[in-house]
Amino acid sequence: MSIASGLAAIAALRRFAIFSAMRSTNRQPPSVDRIVSCLKRFGADSLERKGGVGGIDIEDDARALVNDLERYPHAFVLACIADRQTKADIAWRLPHAIREAAGDFEFDTLLGLEKERWTSVLASSGHRLATQMEQLLPAALRHICDRYGGDASRIWANGSSGAAVARRFLAFDGVGPKIANMAVNILIRDFGIRLTRPMPDIAVDTHVLRVFERLGLLGKLEHSQLRSTKDKQALRLQLRARELSPEWPGELDWPAWMVGKTWCHAGRAPECRECCMGSVCPRDGVSPTL
Ligand code: SF4
Repeated sequence: MSIASGLAAIAALRRFAIFSAMRSTNRQPPSVDRIVSCLKRFGADSLERKGGVGGIDIEDDARALVNDLERYPHAFVLACIADRQTKADIAWRLPHAIREAAGDFEFDTLLGLEKERWTSVLASSGHRLATQMEQLLPAALRHICDRYGGDASRIWANGSSGAAVARRFLAFDGVGPKIANMAVNILIRDFGIRLTRPMPDIAVDTHVLRVFERLGLLGKLEHSQLRSTKDKQALRLQLRARELSPEWPGELDWPAWMVGKTWCHAGRAPECRECCMGSVCPRDGVSPTL
């Protein structure tokens, strides 16, 4: 038996066990609607909180800077651009480290910051793409200067749609669909920025993908030997989120990411007993030996 078919058999057995348990108590297996609403309920806590960027563990000064959209909207943009291929905490701490090196965080100060300062602050940041960030972050400031007159909050100006703001983020060098959607979803969810429809898509991320699959919201692709499988599955995830939450697909983003980061681990056993989705999750593809 191949690993894939072994996992499929385990998932089937697990589904059967859940179904049997529910039948014995006259309960129905959790429907997709129920799973999605459970996920949204978990995310609602953050939606109601509106306390700035959630799910990161950084010092108060660093947190206050990236949350200060009024005075330093460019801090938020720089952190979003840096938030890839490294721990989120490193990316969101970076604006504070830049402020320490520059002396302040005024837009003009940063625009004139010497190359050596960028190099030194990024070299000590722990970012895996420090060399790339040396190019991308100053380039982002130049783009904000040229396109928005130095005021990054004009990216999410009143009356903008979620899709338009994502498109504006995509115009930054080094920003792809994942970061663009992530940035707009954070603005809506954590800062209460009001945007019109169409709303942004889900930000495709390894945690989000894994949780969607284990929750039974997205089937795995069988033909994993093909090089295109990863990209195809990313697109399927995006389309699935649109189906499940058409009014705002990105609403599923944070709760799925947080479930993956907190309980639904990749390389070790998921903590299903503690997980907020434990009562509805079919645990698809979860091996008992993980
Ligand atoms: S941790 Fe367990 S219950 Fe939670 S989403 Fe993952 S597989 Fe489901």
